[in-house]
Amino acid sequence: MFLIVGVSPKIKILDTNPRICPVCGLARAYYKRVDHYLYLFFIPILRIKKGKPFIMCERCEKTVHEFKEEYGHPADRKSAMCHHCGKDLDKNFKYCPYCGIRL
Ligand SMILES: [Zn+2]
Ligand SMILES: [Zn+2]
Repeated sequence: MFLIVGVSPKIKILDTNPRICPVCGLARAYYKRVDHYLYLFFIPILRIKKGKPFIMCERCEKTVHEFKEEYGHPADRKSAMCHHCGKDLDKNFKYCPYCGIRL
């Protein structure tokens, strides 16, 4: 019998206001979260795992977490801080993904 109960990830957009992508500088990055839901007949009935929020750029199709790994050098893992909102950022970012200011 085909499985009618299952667990699937569901992408939730936490903020529909686009944010500045720290790499390409365009306002195409969205604050999202992947939650895992228990599905019954393809209908999500129960959230079983709440994911960590992340920022994903629709143009680059990468998450900010992936940017960090790609641009991070083992020698200087230190993150920079946004001088405007005070959030921890990768120092290779050109823009702050939280407030959109140019760094
Ligand atoms: Zn981008
Ligand atoms: Zn900022």
